[in-house]
Amino acid sequence: MTTPLLTWYDEQKRPLPWRMNPSPYAVMVSEAMLQQTQVATVIPYFNRFMAQYPSVTDLAAAELETVLKSWEGLGYYRRARHLHACARAIVAIGAFPTQAVEWQQLPGIGAYSSAAIASIAFGQPIACVDGNVTRVIARHYLVRDDVSKSKGKARIQSLASEFLHMDRPGDHNQAMMELGARVCLPSQPKCDQCPIAKSCVTHIEGVNPINLPHKTARTKVRSQQLHALLVIKDDRFMIARRRAGLLLGGLWELPVTERVPATSKRITAVKHRFTHIQALYHLHLVEHYEVEADVYDQIQWVRSDDQGYPFTKVYYLQKPFIEQTLNNYDMLVR
Ligand code: SF4
Repeated sequence: MTTPLLTWYDEQKRPLPWRMNPSPYAVMVSEAMLQQTQVATVIPYFNRFMAQYPSVTDLAAAELETVLKSWEGLGYYRRARHLHACARAIVAIGAFPTQAVEWQQLPGIGAYSSAAIASIAFGQPIACVDGNVTRVIARHYLVRDDVSKSKGKARIQSLASEFLHMDRPGDHNQAMMELGARVCLPSQPKCDQCPIAKSCVTHIEGVNPINLPHKTARTKVRSQQLHALLVIKDDRFMIARRRAGLLLGGLWELPVTERVPATSKRITAVKHRFTHIQALYHLHLVEHYEVEADVYDQIQWVRSDDQGYPFTKVYYLQKPFIEQTLNNYDMLVR
């Protein structure tokens, strides 16, 4: 038996590349990329990534640095490191896990990703709940609990499981995600186009859906001032690789420190927002610098057109100023 949600999904679903061939590997890669990134941004990255690493064995055999380079621009590099580690773990095990609980043993795979992969690739009847699904469920069942608290989260999970289509769990989960992304929007829900409006309690009772779900817990964002150092030798400048395990580990950048060296010339500053940090990077020209060994494990001297390294996003924001400084270097140090 189908449902209005699945009928709508069958007719309206977007032809996304990972839906063409929902192999466990394709689903695993797409789920890693889709965390915190919009579908439209993911599509070209997914296609390039699958061409470069067509199988889990290819991904496992690649160097982490190469994978980070392929991920460049997508951000949240921890996902790439976890995906790479996951591929190696699967190759070591010799097969893809089929159940969500087994997927959760792999690096970086939480409740949501494990349910998504197990239901889409293996048909396990398990509901996946992310921000979109939480919104749809909270509105459909008129849940007034605070969904940032454990009681509210448990209620949403339980209702999502109750709502799940047991014969087509993968399609149902994708339909819920798609409904949340295209119809049951946070501030402008399109109730007149919604396939589940007839059973939506919020809609039936005439409650304004934009007030749901209720959330009180907010993530605190802190500010941080950092100093990125441009050290020039001949026509090259120093870049350093962040140690694995640190934020942005494995990526290259101008060496960054919290305290500016005494003899330095400030060039400019660029802002970058991480999930919980609003960072301001002051860029300075310095004559000599020893990188902090607990932060960096390698340095290189490069030209600004060197593309072989996986760089941080901040590096790309600084790049025009680096080039400008290199061009005017003689004048600046005179
Ligand atoms: S009817 Fe409106 S509020 Fe209810 S699920 Fe559909 S879009 Fe969301």
